[in-house]
Amino acid sequence: MMLLETLRENAARILGEIDGKEMKTKERLALPPQEMPSQDPLERCANMREVALGYTEEQVRVEAARCLQCKNAKCIEGCPVTIDIPGFVAAAARGDYRSSFDIIKESSLLPAICGRVCPQENQCQAYCTVGKSLKDVGKAVSIGRIERFVADWARAGGQSSPPEVKESTGKRVAVIGSGPAGITAAADLRRAGHEVTVFEAFHKPGGVMIYGIPEFRLPKQIVQEEIEMLESMGVEIRTNFLIGRTRTLRELLEKDKYDAVFIGSGAGLPRFMNVAGENLVGVFSANEYLTRANLMKAYDTEHAVTPIYPSRTVAVIGGGNVAMDSARMAKRLGAEKVTIVYRRTETEMPARVEEVVHAKEEGIEFFLLANPVEILGNDKGRVRGMSVMRYSLGEPDESGRRRPVPIEGSEMEMAVDTVIVAIGNDSNPLLSRTTPELQTTERGNIITDENGKTSMDRVYAGGDIVLGSATVILAMGEGRKAAAAINAFLAGV
Ligand code: FAD
Ligand code: SF4
Repeated sequence: MMLLETLRENAARILGEIDGKEMKTKERLALPPQEMPSQDPLERCANMREVALGYTEEQVRVEAARCLQCKNAKCIEGCPVTIDIPGFVAAAARGDYRSSFDIIKESSLLPAICGRVCPQENQCQAYCTVGKSLKDVGKAVSIGRIERFVADWARAGGQSSPPEVKESTGKRVAVIGSGPAGITAAADLRRAGHEVTVFEAFHKPGGVMIYGIPEFRLPKQIVQEEIEMLESMGVEIRTNFLIGRTRTLRELLEKDKYDAVFIGSGAGLPRFMNVAGENLVGVFSANEYLTRANLMKAYDTEHAVTPIYPSRTVAVIGGGNVAMDSARMAKRLGAEKVTIVYRRTETEMPARVEEVVHAKEEGIEFFLLANPVEILGNDKGRVRGMSVMRYSLGEPDESGRRRPVPIEGSEMEMAVDTVIVAIGNDSNPLLSRTTPELQTTERGNIITDENGKTSMDRVYAGGDIVLGSATVILAMGEGRKAAAAINAFLAGV
């Protein structure tokens, strides 16, 4: 890991050589991929500040100069909201950040967020010709980091003005949930001139971006700014308002006379392993653990009213982003030893590569091809360890990943005082239970047509509540698609 100043100086030297010069493909391919400056691992384990510090201006221009400006830009196909990637990258390479930002904003409402948390290596960057030519997806143009730089530039200079709102249509739309799906739908509906109210169950809007993804990966100030932008457009946000309890979906339509409803209530119901000992003190769902830490600011021990369990040895079960976030959070909250326990190998891990790298740098241990069969307690009902079965890899399953096969008789004990279960989420059943006419899958996901329309008249849905646990950008795309369908529907009534 190079120091920020060294990275900046190296990039400044290269920029001096290439600035204003016509470059051939070969020369562009020879430019070194720019490393993301980040906080020192030892230092950052003791604070909540953002780990990745963002490119310097010199770095962003060199990184953007690596783009080959392909005519048939495959990277756009890899972006769920089809941003004109060559367009915004070319503008960044010239140092024209205003144009770059305007191009991004045509397609994406939340670039400072997506530039930070999108799994780019599986999306836009997976299709990048540079990565393919260099036979390493890790050497693709860092599209997300460039996007982050441009979005931060606009934020810092107050250049991110609210979108224009059309004249009032007199129509009213309710949005349930204030995650990326709800925020995007609310913004697009408001732009069309409708009166929009967002109902949020928690006391703070933002969905998983506020209560799940930690501050050290996504500063809450950025999400807060997006919420303020929404409010400045005239969207009303009503927090501590649980649809299905405070008001039912039917009441929104019939009593409160909303003309349409968008449901973006996410997938917030944690899955458990169903093994013995899961009800012991010291076992948490990742959802609860991260919500306590993020939303309730449990790490701020002097001011927070919500305490966090004092842990020394922590096992986190799972291999996704949620598992990495929980493990890294536990370390920051003072745990001495944190181990990720995962049934498959690192190759099959669904977490973003960068999160796995950061977790390792921070001293998180990885116990692979292993899974708990029982959580063991002491005489006070607290966790004292886990009985863990070892696994080998078999044939690929329906997900395309090699199936974990238990090795009989391989059980062993692992001493831990805390277990965090991060094996996935299902959708919260409250809305469907209180609205039986809303059709859902067996897993509880709301069924929609290709425009986000549900089985109920005037009701649309999108994001994790439809897709199951997905990504911020996919949720955003779903919110945008459903808003377009609602706008079309309201234009015709
Ligand atoms: P959510 O963000 O879940 O928002 C739904 C909102 O609806 C919540 O605020 C909830 O309180 C509210 N709500 C629910 N029910 C009701 C109700 N009945 N009435 C009123 N309000 C209600 N994705 C990435 O792209 N990159 C990442 O790095 C990444 N990391 C993640 C880390 C963690 C810890 C988690 C949990 C998820 C992560 N994800 C990541 C996934 C991503 O955050 C989600 O896919 C995305 O937030 C889904 O957006 P959404 O708008 O559908 O729902
Ligand atoms: Fe890539 Fe995500 Fe940005 Fe699209 S929004 S260009 S997928 S980082």
